[in-house]
Amino acid sequence: MFVYLDNSATTRVIPQVAEVMTKTMTEDFGNPSSLYRMGVNAEKILKQARLNVARAINASPDEVFFTACGTESDATVLQGVWESRNKQGKRIITTAVEHPAILRNCEYLQQKGADVVYLPVKPDCTFDMDAFKAALTEDTILVSVMHVNNESGSIMPIEEIRREVNKVNKNILLHTDAVQSFEKVDTDVKKLGVDFMSISGHKVHAAKGVGALYIKNGLHIRPFLMGGGQEKGFRSGTENMPGIAGLGEAVRVAEENKAQRIAKIAEVRSYLLDLIKANIPDIKINSPEICAPSVLNISFLGCRGEVLLHTLEQDEIYVSTGSACSSHKKGSHVLTAMGLSQEEIEGAVRFSFSEENTKEQMDFVCEKLKAAVESQRRLRSAFKRR
Ligand code: PLP
Repeated sequence: MFVYLDNSATTRVIPQVAEVMTKTMTEDFGNPSSLYRMGVNAEKILKQARLNVARAINASPDEVFFTACGTESDATVLQGVWESRNKQGKRIITTAVEHPAILRNCEYLQQKGADVVYLPVKPDCTFDMDAFKAALTEDTILVSVMHVNNESGSIMPIEEIRREVNKVNKNILLHTDAVQSFEKVDTDVKKLGVDFMSISGHKVHAAKGVGALYIKNGLHIRPFLMGGGQEKGFRSGTENMPGIAGLGEAVRVAEENKAQRIAKIAEVRSYLLDLIKANIPDIKINSPEICAPSVLNISFLGCRGEVLLHTLEQDEIYVSTGSACSSHKKGSHVLTAMGLSQEEIEGAVRFSFSEENTKEQMDFVCEKLKAAVESQRRLRSAFKRR
């Protein structure tokens, strides 16, 4: 049985999205900047996609800019805010558990003179509000905190962060990387009180190579790409029409039955968690109690997550040991920041869900996982006895 449980790494493009993309490539392939009918038609497609994304986050369409990926959205905010505000202050506050798309850009800005604070997290990967309050200064220019952590699924209290920021200085800009939260938890930009929000298409059943960035009306940061002036001069380059149209369609589908879809993901996740708890001893659950419905991180003590991953792969079950983009590295900076022991880090497996997963799949996963864990533990103890 094919079971894909790595939906935080990427998702399958759904047929509706593939269909829209194909049509945009083969029939409605005009350039939205062209003045004739095909261009006007392409512009309409672009407008509809923008409207779909805007509605899903309670923004207005002119606050939504299409990018190539979540990484580009993140980098645009960090570098753009730094360039336009570094005369007003040098401090940028983020967390130690952000995606490398944030962390590497922060390191780059440190070389340019930024005073970056990497907040610690609590042992369950939740936000440390006391540390934040202590780090927040009046001359902070940007706070960038991810909405949902990609490895643990913890949800960061963005609304509360906004309230604390406002107590200190209402002009401090707030960015959230919503790559893992979009279409999984509420990403209403007004409720969250964010100035910027990053989104990625391939995490929500659209294609790779398309993302979006919400920029609150009235804010101006340096454009990331300069040239032909597309995206209101903010992001030049002929629009990735198939990708954008596909993202618009993915969002339309996801919004159609949002509550039931999210409830289904949560139900399947908790079904697998209960099965694992009942059948496999010596585990540590790394995801917090209150968690995104899409992520479950568990350490199987006495095992290597990587070996489990490859054992499960033989039965066409796909899981991961950390975020896919950084899984080539040793260890996980997120689990390290949570204070896990080396054994717990080595034995960690991330299961990440979409609405395509079923309870029947979870029965199969648990059966295979139990066998894989038992055989690895047996081998390891036999090896130790020698
Ligand atoms: N931010 C988070 C939290 C992510 O999980 C990822 C990808 O895994 C990214 C950013 C990067 O997104 P993209 O792959 O679209 O560049």
